[in-house]
Amino acid sequence: MRTRFAPSPTGYLHIGSLRTALFVYLAAKSMDGKFILRIEDTDQSREVSGAVENLIKILDWIGINFDEGPHIDGGFGPYTQSQRVEIYNKYIQELLDKDEAYHCFCTPERLDSMRKEQQEKKQAPRYDRICRNLSKEEVLGRLSGGERYVIRQKMPLDGEIVVHDELRGDITFKCADMEDHVLIKSNGIPTYQFANVVDDHLMEITHVLRGDEWIASFPKNILLYKSFGWEAPKFAHLSLILNKEGGKLSKRQGDVAVEDYRAKGYLPESLLNFCVLMGWHPKDDNEILSLADMQEKFRIEDIGISPAVFDVEKLDYFNGYYIRQKPLEELVALCKPYLAENISKTSEERKKRDDFLKKVVALEQERMKKLSDIKEGTEFFFSEIEYESELLIWKKLTKEEVKNNLEKMAELLNEIQEGNWIKTSIEERVMAYLKAKDLKVGDYLWPMRVSLTGRKASPGPFEIADVLGKKESLERMKNAINKL
Ligand code: GLU
Repeated sequence: MRTRFAPSPTGYLHIGSLRTALFVYLAAKSMDGKFILRIEDTDQSREVSGAVENLIKILDWIGINFDEGPHIDGGFGPYTQSQRVEIYNKYIQELLDKDEAYHCFCTPERLDSMRKEQQEKKQAPRYDRICRNLSKEEVLGRLSGGERYVIRQKMPLDGEIVVHDELRGDITFKCADMEDHVLIKSNGIPTYQFANVVDDHLMEITHVLRGDEWIASFPKNILLYKSFGWEAPKFAHLSLILNKEGGKLSKRQGDVAVEDYRAKGYLPESLLNFCVLMGWHPKDDNEILSLADMQEKFRIEDIGISPAVFDVEKLDYFNGYYIRQKPLEELVALCKPYLAENISKTSEERKKRDDFLKKVVALEQERMKKLSDIKEGTEFFFSEIEYESELLIWKKLTKEEVKNNLEKMAELLNEIQEGNWIKTSIEERVMAYLKAKDLKVGDYLWPMRVSLTGRKASPGPFEIADVLGKKESLERMKNAINKL
């Protein structure tokens, strides 16, 4: 069993391609097979420098590893199509010799006017096969005269072809609907249709999983295998991924690059878990899946064929889940790059407190949907806070009352020993007081919390006071009192 992921290097990894890569990888791993990376870069107008290195890097970060590819020789290389042109030349010659392909000398101008004419006559645009029956002598003459040409596949003129998709069963195509498409372009470079078949054969690929946009090419591919007399691999076409509105996922509508998700602080395990469910579902309905779980449970035949829906809220759900599962030390390390700017703004004293970052991160761990949330959510811990004094006012209280309440709280907190300054003891102290005097909780805790954070919404006052430490908490409360 051998599968391959065969991307065209575009400079970033599309989230849909990640889904394809994952399914291809899982197909191989679920059957103890080999997983191969092949770079399909024959469309040179799209070549982007560094794209292959980036691709390997991001897949490596995700945890999808190859057995063979441009970076790991498995004896089937080169694994990059632009380095295989000689191989394609040899095989196209074989097809020409077998009379399964032919030279076409039609100029782009002629093809244009042909298409226009077909459009006017409301016919399907299709090459009219004018070069299909040129005599050998004429072809040789025109070749030696240096005329530009492409090489086309000689398709059957009538009848039907039935192809078998592992997920959809048999699919029938009418040969009359298929044109003699180009196998080798006028610059000598093969098209996807040709290079892909030659490579899958030579690389001994047994299972092809690819997007369903290639279903239209499927009969052409199978006919090529037949022309060569090769056995075709098994094919499974993966359904399209649609956005929530039912449209195509496009770069314009937001992030489709896995690199962008990484930068925002989505974890590899979340992206994998999210992607695997776009078109596949575990039989036991347990949707939380590690890569190892997926390897164990995934079967090609269980892939669905209806379009998958891209739901970013689901991705956020998984990411929140995996963030909560992280050991704190690890999460702190993951959050650090997002906190770098905040850390640079904070006092030397706080920087030295080695539990400070841990406490900040622990406080957000439950809430975070992505690592980047840590920055905005915890900014008030690191630098001076600014807010309007009105924010300190709880409901119908007057300024005077709020001031008194804050003074009382500060007095109470000041009595707590530095060494005893932890959330539970702060909370016990304050709550015992409020209860004993039968005071309303909001009248005291709202101003206290705002004085510590400067925000309308934040975690509760006791845990924040704990993280800030006694000195900083009392200073902030004093500042608030002075504002009133
Ligand atoms: N290069 C093609 C793509 O990027 C590969 C399709 C296939 O897997 O055959 O869509």
